[in-house]
Formats: sequence, C-alpha cells, structure tokens
Amino acid sequence: MTTISNRLQDILATIQSAQACSPFAQAVKLVAVSKAQPASAIREAYQAGQTIFGENYLQEALDKQAQLTDLNIEWHFIGPIQSNKTQPISQHFTWVHSVDRLKIAQRLNEARPADLPPLQVCIQVNVSNEDTKSGVLPEDLAALAAEIQKLPKLKLRGLMAIPVRPYTKEQIAQFKRVRQCYDALLEKGVALDTLSIGMSDDYAVAITQGATFVRIGSALFGARPRQA
Ligand SMILES: *Cc1c(COP(=O)(O)O)cnc(C)c1O
Repeated sequence: MTTISNRLQDILATIQSAQACSPFAQAVKLVAVSKAQPASAIREAYQAGQTIFGENYLQEALDKQAQLTDLNIEWHFIGPIQSNKTQPISQHFTWVHSVDRLKIAQRLNEARPADLPPLQVCIQVNVSNEDTKSGVLPEDLAALAAEIQKLPKLKLRGLMAIPVRPYTKEQIAQFKRVRQCYDALLEKGVALDTLSIGMSDDYAVAITQGATFVRIGSALFGARPRQA
C-alpha cells in the first residue's frame, strides 16, 4: 500500500532532482495542500516530516487547526480571499500566497496581531490572460507591490500563480511570465525571494523555472475526497 509517507519521500526526491537541474540554484520548499483532507491525513504527513501545510478554505482550515494544536505546523493560506475573512486569516496563518488587491492587503495588515511577526505574503499574479482567474494583471503588479511594501505588519516575499491547465507548452510560457514579473520587480529594487508556482502535475517543471514553493495536494494525499 502506498502511504502518505511513501509519496512524500518520492516527491522530495523529485524536488531534489529538479532542483539539481534548475538554472536558478534556488532552495525549494514543499507546501502540502491539505484542502478537503481530514486532520488525520495532515497528522500522518507531519509525522513523516512535513511541516508546511496549505489550505484554501478558512472555516475548514480553522476546524483542522483546532484538532492539530499539538503539532508545530506552519500554516499557509492559498485560496481566494473574501474581505470579510481577512481578520481570522491574518490571525491564524503565517503566510498568505493569494493577495491580489490592495484592499485585502490593508485589511490583513490591520488585523495582524501585534505580538506576531509580520504576515508573510505573496501577490497572486494572473499570467493566463483569462479574466475568470483571480490574480493581479502583470501591468498592475508594480503599483500593488509598492503599496504593500508600505504596510508594516505585512512582509512582501514574492509572487504566486496558478497557470491554467492542462500541461502544455503554454503552461511553461505562463511560468516564464511569472518569472519575468518577478525579475521586473527585483530590478525595481523590490526585495523578493519567493516564487510560489507548481502543483502536483507540473512541479518539476516549475522548479526548473525558478519555483521556491511548490504547492502539492493530490500527489501527496491522493485524490481529494470531494471536489475542492
Ligand atoms: C488545490 C491547490 C493546489 C494543489 O493542487 P494539486 O493539483 O492537488 O497538487 C495548489 N495550489 C492551489 C492554489 C490550490 O488551490
């Protein structure tokens, strides 16, 4: 039987070999995407050595966090953010990958408890030329980054993107566009070190395009019990 622990070891080995081929010589971390998975699956992955977990839905995440308070997990919020959810998100997560507008950033900043370190954030960029996907358009990115940098309780770390699937040449082109956006910000003097791209079916490619976080769900936990 293939267990979460077996799959984790396979994924970590794949990450390592992709890293060895990457021209960017970057460190890569795995975000285990546990949406729609029970707390017991998170516990199993944690016991196998995984400490970073990503969740998309606030209430579901809070329920699981309450069951796992004995574990030293670093929680990442990676889903779309409604403005009425910013307060609990800012209180209960270490990272947010999916900031895509100033209002959300401002609300996360206001809600971040003073006794916690700054909330680590990525701006989600829309590189798929589709107005259905969330994310800021590349042409609006620099202005948003400049505003977020002024918020004292947020620490802007980088960019996140969800290229449209399925896996094609166009998908690689989308990874390259995120990388271009990232390099353009670096050139403007914005200090970034994080590129959150790559999921179960394309993380090895994403790493060769510079990913520093890969967000992996189904390849680690198996198919999700319900569509999420
Ligand atoms: C669900 C999800 C993932 C993981 O997807 P898999 O294909 O199961 O690896 C990664 N990032 C985001 C934003 C997601 O919503």
